[in-house]
Amino acid sequence: MGLSNALVSELASIVGAEAVKSGDLDRHLYSKDAGVIRGEVSVVVLPRTARQVASIVRTAVAHGLAVVPRGAGTGLTGGAVPEGPAILLVTTRMDQVDVDAANRTAWVGPGVINLDLSNQTASLGIHFAPDPSSQAACTIGGNVANNSGGPHCLAEGSTVNHVLAVEFVTAGGEIVVAGSGAPDPPGLDVRGVMVGSEGTLGIITRILVKLIPNPPAIRTLLIAFPEVRGAAATVTDVIASGVVPAALEMMDQPLIRAVENFVHADLPVDAAVVLLAEVVGHEAGVDVEAELIERIATDHGAFQLRRAADADERELLWKARKSSFGAIAQIAPDYYLHDTVIPRTKLVEVLEQIYQIAERRNLVVLNTIHAGDGNLHPLFAFDASDPEAVTQVNQAADEIVEISIAAGGVLSGEHGIGQEKRDLMHLVFSPVDLDAQARLRDAFDPEATMNPKKILPAGARCFDFGRPIPEGAWL
Ligand SMILES: Cc1cc2nc3c(=O)[nH]c(=O)nc-3n(C[C@H](O)[C@H](O)[C@H](O)COP(=O)(O)OP(=O)(O)OC[C@H]3O[C@@H](n4cnc5c(N)ncnc54)[C@H](O)[C@@H]3O)c2cc1C
Repeated sequence: MGLSNALVSELASIVGAEAVKSGDLDRHLYSKDAGVIRGEVSVVVLPRTARQVASIVRTAVAHGLAVVPRGAGTGLTGGAVPEGPAILLVTTRMDQVDVDAANRTAWVGPGVINLDLSNQTASLGIHFAPDPSSQAACTIGGNVANNSGGPHCLAEGSTVNHVLAVEFVTAGGEIVVAGSGAPDPPGLDVRGVMVGSEGTLGIITRILVKLIPNPPAIRTLLIAFPEVRGAAATVTDVIASGVVPAALEMMDQPLIRAVENFVHADLPVDAAVVLLAEVVGHEAGVDVEAELIERIATDHGAFQLRRAADADERELLWKARKSSFGAIAQIAPDYYLHDTVIPRTKLVEVLEQIYQIAERRNLVVLNTIHAGDGNLHPLFAFDASDPEAVTQVNQAADEIVEISIAAGGVLSGEHGIGQEKRDLMHLVFSPVDLDAQARLRDAFDPEATMNPKKILPAGARCFDFGRPIPEGAWL
């Protein structure tokens, strides 16, 4: 459903005609994120300032329209995909960066690309720690909205630990700031509530982020195992030893082979799994920690230990890890990337169940795992033009959620809930829990203007599912 010409003109008067996209092709291109859910976009607007965002929200409210914020669209849960007619507000032009090197902070626009920020601050010897594998494309606004993680969040914590303040536009069209650069700001922690709210509480227009020093020394290890059990035991024993590596990632054999074919990093293609471990700190300490990890791995049957000899080799190994998803294109045209968390100690049995699910449903599954924190990313490679494959993939995804929760895990580690897992929220939250969240949502946005029908399922008290379609707004 397209927006009426009068409303398109009204939006153009706020942001300029070139920043409003209402043609069929644009609306189609923006109707999906990197996941499998496609929606319907009425119009796309690309503001540059918080004031423009506030005017867009006020226009939407005046006409009873919903607003869905979107960064780069690399989300995997349909979070930035409208369900029902809506204005899609894309933040990619809000890319200003204002670094305060002395305080190791920066105010950044929500449309700043994650990796661009660290590249911009590299010469100052500081960086933004959260590093999703999509960091070359995803925005910091999207990272905050999803409380994203990444390989190096094991030691440093996910995005919420790196956000000091958030400026956002409320559903009433006001610009407010939550949090500050102060170490323990007074008042309710609205900043904390905004992080991970997936666009349902307001539209983030600026973020005060922490920047941490680049480590003086780094050791990156690639460790190959003949079976998953030894690698899983290594992960458990490394953490138990008191060493918290900066990153502790696992890739299984199907993924190792796909990635090696793509990146040519000389990965051990005969390994059942590899661990990519990284320790950072001072020169004297990193070798001690690396040796400890190598000893633990050897005790658990590792058959190959490789240390990156220099920065180029380290980069190559990380390229292999972070190109995992690109490598899948060699196998099938589409993929479904899952995200659940389990206790680390259940890794072997849950992985075994995932292989069984894939075999039973005739699906190709590849696994990449943030092993240090038990965050699973089974990835099904399939052809979305085959309806039977789509059914099998969706059912397998639900089964993975069930086995993860049965193992004591949770619905999502870092990708968020969006639409994908909205109707599974009751598996981990009681009606009372959901009601408390819905009341919070109502307090911020009683008319469900902001990204309706995300996170909270129908039946939660909020207005999302009762939103009427306004007359006269649509073509
Ligand atoms: C190949 C690949 C690898 C990935 N690896 C990781 C990973 O390692 N770790 C991880 O956590 N995620 C990962 N992701 C998922 C995704 O990249 C992250 O969730 C990322 O933070 C989304 O950023 P984005 O700019 O693309 O947001 P979008 O997809 O555009 O939006 C995501 C959500 O944020 C909301 N939103 C966006 N901007 C704003 C704003 N300004 N104000 C309010 N709400 C907003 C949207 O409404 C939506 O709900 C990966 C995705 C891909 C495709």
